[in-house]
Amino acid sequence: MPELPEVETIKNELTPLVVGRRITGITLGWEGIVKKPALTEFCRRLAGQVITGISRRGKYLTFSLKSGQALVIHLKMTGSLLLNHASDEPTRHIRAVLHLDNGGELRFRDPRKFGAMWLVEDPESLVSKLGPEPLEKGFTARLLGERLTKRKAPIKALLLDQHFIAGIGNMYADESLYDARIHPLRPAASLPREEVVRLHKAIQGVLRAAIVSKGASVENYFRPGGELGTAHFEFRVAHGLGGKLCPRCGTPIERIVVRNRGTYFCPKCQPLFPL
Ligand SMILES: [Zn+2]
Repeated sequence: MPELPEVETIKNELTPLVVGRRITGITLGWEGIVKKPALTEFCRRLAGQVITGISRRGKYLTFSLKSGQALVIHLKMTGSLLLNHASDEPTRHIRAVLHLDNGGELRFRDPRKFGAMWLVEDPESLVSKLGPEPLEKGFTARLLGERLTKRKAPIKALLLDQHFIAGIGNMYADESLYDARIHPLRPAASLPREEVVRLHKAIQGVLRAAIVSKGASVENYFRPGGELGTAHFEFRVAHGLGGKLCPRCGTPIERIVVRNRGTYFCPKCQPLFPL
């Protein structure tokens, strides 16, 4: 699933190519991708709009439009945004195409059809409940510590909760906990100060490194030009590396299930009951 580094990469790579472009029309391959407003109104209102900027909040991408409205996109499990030319061969699993005034086509590819688009006056209404942005200045170790107090949930579950912290999914939660040497099932409130500091540093380090690598191309993630990201080559535990050896201590990586998500960790480096 695209997480913060993948969505950030899409934003960074699309911005110079589509900002200033006019959307001349939209073709839908699957109507369920439009969440709001009703389909005909969505298409009618979007046509003719000029894109003035792209921003990211959590895993949401917001295309600001000259009219003051905004097109908000969530890629969910398997979505990608591909920038093609109208003359390029159509490919499979394209659920929506935004036609641009320079002959470009922004194609929303989404094999599993969980992706979503909204055309709204106030994009804040869609993202107002999200937790803090992990790479913004305001996200300090102190803030993380405050948010963990009184939380009994396993730390892994909290990292996946978009209301607790925005943008982290299964891959980067596992990588961050590995880096911080924290067992995924530790109750959140039980982490002492030094572990909170380690986790804060790990979250930021893991996300920043993945952005430098243009995201992780596991499953269906492509960059807008169709290239792959390479962040997954640096994974130590995430995304099914169970059975491989921990690069730090050589112990086999284990898999457990936390809140229905396959979770990978090193049982030696990440003890459930630290001394
Ligand atoms: Zn280890």
